[in-house]
Amino acid sequence: MPRKIPHKTSEMSLQILFCTTECAPFSKVGGLADVSQALPAALKALGAEVTVITPLYGAINRNDLPKPLKQIAQGTVSLGAYRERSFSVLAALVSGITIWFVDSNEYFARNGIYEDEQGFAFWDNGERYIFFQKVILEMVRQHEFQILHVNDHHTSLLPVYLKKERHTTPPKTVLTIHNIGYQGSYSPDILNITGLGWADFYPGGPLEFHGQTNFLKGGILYADRVTTVSPGYAGELLASQEISFGLDGVLRSLDTPLTGILNGVDYRIWSPESDDIIPANYSAEDLAGKQVNRKKLLKRTGLPALPDHAVIGIISRLVDSKGFELLIPLEEELMELPLQWVILGSGEQRFEDMFRGWSQRYPKKVAYHQGYDAALSHLIEAGADMFLMPSKYEACGLNQIYSLRYGTIPIVRQTGGLGDTVQAWNGECGTGFNFQFYSSFALLQAINQALRVFRDKQAWQTLMRNAMAQDFSWEKSARAYLDIYRDLMK
Ligand code: ADP
Repeated sequence: MPRKIPHKTSEMSLQILFCTTECAPFSKVGGLADVSQALPAALKALGAEVTVITPLYGAINRNDLPKPLKQIAQGTVSLGAYRERSFSVLAALVSGITIWFVDSNEYFARNGIYEDEQGFAFWDNGERYIFFQKVILEMVRQHEFQILHVNDHHTSLLPVYLKKERHTTPPKTVLTIHNIGYQGSYSPDILNITGLGWADFYPGGPLEFHGQTNFLKGGILYADRVTTVSPGYAGELLASQEISFGLDGVLRSLDTPLTGILNGVDYRIWSPESDDIIPANYSAEDLAGKQVNRKKLLKRTGLPALPDHAVIGIISRLVDSKGFELLIPLEEELMELPLQWVILGSGEQRFEDMFRGWSQRYPKKVAYHQGYDAALSHLIEAGADMFLMPSKYEACGLNQIYSLRYGTIPIVRQTGGLGDTVQAWNGECGTGFNFQFYSSFALLQAINQALRVFRDKQAWQTLMRNAMAQDFSWEKSARAYLDIYRDLMK
């Protein structure tokens, strides 16, 4: 066996390979991208050596890639008996973190990350991410890592491969669940291209779930540790068949506990004091800039300034789990309230149609921007008074944490990470408004409560300052991950 290349010079620091299918600012669908950008940096600040490996998607503008970009590997991997697929790996240094981009014409050189432009999942997603993982295995064979940190089902077969391979000293594996609603469930014959054989596929077996393959289940059972992105979500996953999409029993069967580590925020990017995307910076001591941003937001979205109205923002993937169905029966009540809505997002047709319909029927009250727009998302955080996240379930949620820092008061359903990060306002303490029952009525009550407090300017300022004083920086969470890695090295 060829001698492995020690990946970095320092003998003392932990060598971690962070495996992810999204990494901001290069590729982003949701929160995984933010975590993949911020957690490695926070781990590095604590002395660990982290390399991130991620696909080089066609949608990434090559001019935006860091220079120099150096090819460090190329080769082929086999997908099934007679199919070899070629890859190359390009390395770049981004703010001190090495990023390995996996390049493949066949699997990644297309627009879209998981879906095409019409919103249909790519037919070969299973195969694409088996390929990605096989490339990662090649890199792990050539370089020395102590920890492989994998994320969600797209990379959750790696712990399975590593336990089955006769690897001299396989790295320890940590699997983080960012959203258990997606499990890598495919028809069983996909196993033929994994090269893993059929031994784990039988009713109740590690790779079987309701007659389909289930890559996340395999990862949960084979990883050395399993974590998720908030303590609240961890508790719900263990307790609820509905929230865990049926994997609660599998999670309860683990020898080591499922650990919930709250996602942090990269305050270098999300701070009203230094945000260079928003028109005016501001702070808890000097809130004047917030009013400037509010005006710009209304102007940018074509809404008139209406007296005594609050501006409420939504930035989201418009999918079932985000709870927007609760708004459907409330249209008339909501439009009578002193509220103006700025909504940014795309996803399921029924939600896009609902928000578009509102904006057409109530053009002075609702602005809907369909699509993905990072700059507008910053302006909404900075310019809105309130922010709505009525999720059915939420692993962690990031926008409510950004909102806190921007003094944009979150109204959230008390679930998963939303419950962990937003404390209900009680007239003196608290940082936002929570509701518990997943019902339109409970949501409407929370909005009404927020509007009552909004009318009391002094109370609202206290609430804003409480929110802005919250600190969800990555350091604490990165330490919790480091503790897990070190524990595994004992
Ligand atoms: P999820 O990962 O379930 O989508 P999170 O709240 O964890 O939810 O993360 C969502 C991230 O994606 C946030 O950074 C949010 O600002 C961003 N985001 C979602 N939709 C859009 C959009 N339409 N335009 C810009 N950013 C968006």
